[in-house]
Amino acid sequence: MRRTTVRRLSVWAVAAAVASVGATPPPSAAPAPAPSPATAKPPPAKTPVAAGYGGAVASVDADASAAGIEVLRNGGNAVDAAVATAAALGVTEPYSAGIGGGGYFVHYDAKSRTVRTIDGRETAPRSADKSLFLEDGKPIPFEQAVTSGLGVGAPGTPATWRAALDKWGSESLRTLLKPAEKLARDGFTVDPTFRTQTQANEARFRDFPDTAELFLPGGELPVVGSRFKNPDLARTYRELGREGVDELYRGDLARDIVRTVRKPPVDPKSQRVARPGDLTAKDLRAYDVLGQAPTKVSYRGLDVYGIAPSSSGGTSVGEALNILERTDLSAASQTAYLHRFIESSRIAFADRGRWLGDPAFEDVPTRELLSQRFADSRECLIKDDAVLTSPLAPADPRNPTACKAGGKAAPTTFEGENTTHLTAADKWGNVVAYTLTIESTGGSGITVPGRGFLLNNELTDFSFAPASPAVHDPNLPGPGKRPRSSISPTIVLENGRPLLALGSPGGATIITTVLQTLTGHLDRGLPLVDAIAAPRASQRNQATTELEPGLWNSPERARLEALGHAFRQNPEIGATTGVQRLPDGRWLAAAEKVRRGGGSAMVVRPAGPR
Ligand code: GLU
Repeated sequence: MRRTTVRRLSVWAVAAAVASVGATPPPSAAPAPAPSPATAKPPPAKTPVAAGYGGAVASVDADASAAGIEVLRNGGNAVDAAVATAAALGVTEPYSAGIGGGGYFVHYDAKSRTVRTIDGRETAPRSADKSLFLEDGKPIPFEQAVTSGLGVGAPGTPATWRAALDKWGSESLRTLLKPAEKLARDGFTVDPTFRTQTQANEARFRDFPDTAELFLPGGELPVVGSRFKNPDLARTYRELGREGVDELYRGDLARDIVRTVRKPPVDPKSQRVARPGDLTAKDLRAYDVLGQAPTKVSYRGLDVYGIAPSSSGGTSVGEALNILERTDLSAASQTAYLHRFIESSRIAFADRGRWLGDPAFEDVPTRELLSQRFADSRECLIKDDAVLTSPLAPADPRNPTACKAGGKAAPTTFEGENTTHLTAADKWGNVVAYTLTIESTGGSGITVPGRGFLLNNELTDFSFAPASPAVHDPNLPGPGKRPRSSISPTIVLENGRPLLALGSPGGATIITTVLQTLTGHLDRGLPLVDAIAAPRASQRNQATTELEPGLWNSPERARLEALGHAFRQNPEIGATTGVQRLPDGRWLAAAEKVRRGGGSAMVVRPAGPR
């Protein structure tokens, strides 16, 4: 057991943070939506932090968090609330989440004090092989693969909801889909983020008449403050509630999905090449989620649980934490802290590139990647006054040799960036960290006609070709294979009880965002909401490290450049949400203050410290 250097915040420090954020919106928050037309019901108030009793929900969207809170208020548990929140996100965040996608669900069960997970990742068709994205031996252009049937995997989200409710829920799916069904039928208020995301997709949405009809009502971008309705999705949710999720895997909905993927309904007048996919009814029937043990590392005396492969999240966050554990980050200067964070991320990504893929197809040394011995053999690469060169070679975790690489370096492959994360906790102490995705913002851009949801493009998370011909790439497509993910829903326990849970979207940046937020809170003493708001850096075994403007424009950049770091700007990285158990027994929910227009943190019964 290692010395605990975790900084504990006093109840008062937390209360002050809650009060200061709750009182006035942050100055740089996105502008409030324009006055709503008379028909539009204003969305619930959005606040990035809340504390109190009875349970908590944090998501990017106020309607979605409110749906979860309502479930908790009516006696449901954290799993019920997570499913209701996720279903509502399918309505209000249709470009990030929905029943056409997949995700990873991490659950802490208060009764048994155990953490278990569900891998609800999309799978490739059974006919897929490593040439899935090759034509004439060459990778097809990435954007063309994104907007195609070829990139669509068998959705995992409905099966995830079913599995989570069967294992740990207390309500029926039918009941839990009701608030989302109502939201889809009655509409939600369009905010600037929704409009901007629609705008970014406008050109390709116009190429698919069903998508254009749904997301460009009357042929126009949705107006901020107007009400956006999706009656098709309301009907689809009702059908799933009534018939069960088998409807999507074996019923009429399955038939519609298969038809759409095999013949993407592109406007005959458009120039777009929308390649068909080979998803079959058999592929959907064969789909199943995986119940898995979580990854686990101990960090400063706490137990950090994450998601096991097929996501690279748990192993990469875990390896980096193990590396960082050798330094007292609470005592380090800000420059030294950022330097260590960047270098540990670089190393973890070098190893991720070599070892991480779907374990049903690849020999993934999960346990060894998470061992302290392996981390120590990598940590010694980090120098206080110099920067490692990327691409850095991976090492063999089954045979750790201090400071020696065990393989050839290969660049990190590209991964798209968009998803949504939600976190929920209940009065019994159960906790859920759940990240769900349709991959790109707007997924494949293809709406299943008459069904009200977009299909994912998750298969573009596979490497189209090995990053380097000389290096084994564990993330090439295969039949029924799950593409490697970076999703990192994380639950931290202290003496077997929840301390906090969090996660984020952002493709491969998810890993660095979760790592930075964890260390920002646990080591640097930032209240959770401030650790979430802190300007981010992301190093993924690349020559340059991405910086958000808050760091780009800070004196830290020059100090780090003096050490040898090279940077490029990234305007916005991730959109984190989390919950925390406060020392006085209250739950605190936390979300973004500014990113994506700010997130929504709610508790059942708001209360200050006793
Ligand atoms: N497809 C990405 C992954 O699984 C998630 C997309 C995102 O979060 O931005 O890693």
